[in-house]
Order: sequence, then structure tokens, then C-alpha cells
Amino acid sequence: MLSYQHAYHAGNFADVHKHLTLFAVIDYLLRKKSPVTYIDTHAGRGLYPLAAKESQRLLEHREGVERLWQAKRTLNDPLLRQWCDALTSLQPSPATLTHYPGSPWWLHQRLREQDALQLFELHPGEHRYLEDQMLSENTTRTYGDGLAGLMQRLPVATPRLCVLIDPSYERKDEYQEVTEAVELAMKKVRHAVVMVWYPLLPAGHHHTLLEGLAGSGIRKIWRSELSLRSPGEQRHGMYGSGMLVINPPWGLDERLAAAMHEVTPLLGPSCYYHAEWLVGE
Ligand code: SAM
Repeated sequence: MLSYQHAYHAGNFADVHKHLTLFAVIDYLLRKKSPVTYIDTHAGRGLYPLAAKESQRLLEHREGVERLWQAKRTLNDPLLRQWCDALTSLQPSPATLTHYPGSPWWLHQRLREQDALQLFELHPGEHRYLEDQMLSENTTRTYGDGLAGLMQRLPVATPRLCVLIDPSYERKDEYQEVTEAVELAMKKVRHAVVMVWYPLLPAGHHHTLLEGLAGSGIRKIWRSELSLRSPGEQRHGMYGSGMLVINPPWGLDERLAAAMHEVTPLLGPSCYYHAEWLVGE
């Protein structure tokens, strides 16, 4: 029984971290002409009107994307500026932030003719919203389990593959299931760029994922974390956002560090960013 709905959290600080990383990775992949297949295993709705009752309940976007939106004219970092320009292009009225896009949109907005996008969503209600999104012809939307779907689709027809795994982690087992899925996927497509998002919670469940992948034999796993506060300062709820990138494009580390240098002061006085290799070359 799935109860998580991303609409309650859309545009929060974790989305900013996740989608900025995704945006930067796509930007590197577009430097070559060879086709890319993108697979988004946990797609969500694709688009979130911020006036909707779900977004208005917790108002998490106010502590996330809205901080960047308000500062966008003074931002210096080129990646951040590009990201805000993309976000502006989505708004029905460019002066006002009324919508926040999910990963399907961030992936779709730079899809070229030669690329393909495959989206999976298991929640029937969320999938119905996803079906309503205007996405390009080379996109498929599947109502079904994303990790099983990923296994079925590999290897892909294109020379390059980029995967986003962004579960809701409603069950603790998901950390182990993601670890196993990534191991299998990397056996099938060794050169794939795979991104895995995870929450930083006081209970530390993400260590199952990190330790599992660190011991898997997979090389080049880069770990990036944005924390609103240190773990000891909070007993409940998510205090930070983590992202693993396997086979990260060269230069991603410095580019995101520069962007995050401008993002962290906007998100609060205790906010900090840290990135390192979980497993090197
Ligand atoms: N990736 C989205 C984004 O960045 O905008 C947010 C995804 S949200 C964190 C997780 C989504 O996964 C939810 O919409 C949930 O319904 C869906 N989900 C949960 N279990 C799933 C599964 N086994 N396969 C596919 N989707 C699943």
C-alpha cells in the first residue's frame, strides 16, 4: 500500500539538491551527440502546482526552491542561473513561481530527437497525473514497479544510459532493494551513469545503501549531501538530502560545489554541503 505523495514535499531543499544534480549531469551528457536513454524508476506526478492543497499543507517549497527564486537575479553561478532559467520557462507567468517540476520534466526538457525517456510510477493516482503531462513523443510512461522495470529494460538500445532512482523509502527494505538493483544494473551496463537519491534521517537507514554499494565492487561512486542541520540537532524527520552518482561526468564535483556554495546560505545558517568519493576509480 503506497501512501507517499511527492506533492506534499515538491520544491523542498531535497528537490533542489536532487534536481540541480540531475540538471548538471544531463548538461554533461548533452556535450556528445550520441543518444542517451534516461530511465526514471520513481517518477511521481511530473508537475506540482504550488497552490495545490498538498503543497500548501507543509509549505516545504518556501524553505527550498522559493529561496532560490527570490534570489535569482543576484545569483552568479552559471549552473544555478541556467537551472533558474529552466524553471522560469515552465511558469505560466514568468514573473511568478507557481509550479515546481518533478524529475520527468527536468529529464524531458532537454531531451533530443535521438534520446529516449522511460518513466515508471507505481501509485495509480500519481500515475494518472503523470499520464496527463505533455511530454515529448520519445517518452514512455509505465504503471509498474520501477526497479523491476529497470531490470527488464536493460540493456538499452542507445550507446549511453542514465538512470535516476528516487524511491520514497516508505519501507526500510527499500534501501537493500535499491542496493541490489544497482548492483544488477551495473553488471548489465557497466558504463551507465546511475543516480540514487536517499534521505538523511536521524535513524541512519541510508547506511545500508552506502555500505552495501561501497562493498559491491562497483567503482566510481560519488556521494553528495546537502544538510539543513547536523544529525545531532534533530531527533525526527529528514535533516538532509543525499545523492549518489555512479560514473559521474568529469567536472561534476567542482561544478556542483560552486553552485552549492551559493545555495547553502540561502537555505539557512546551519545548512552545509559535503561531497566525496564513496568509492574511487
Ligand atoms: N522522482 C520524483 C521527482 O524527483 O520529482 C519524485 C519521486 S517520489 C520521491 C517517489 C515516487 O515513487 C512516488 O510517486 C511513489 O508513488 C513512487 N513509487 C513508490 N514505490 C514505487 C515502485 N516500486 N516503483 C515505481 N514507483 C514507485
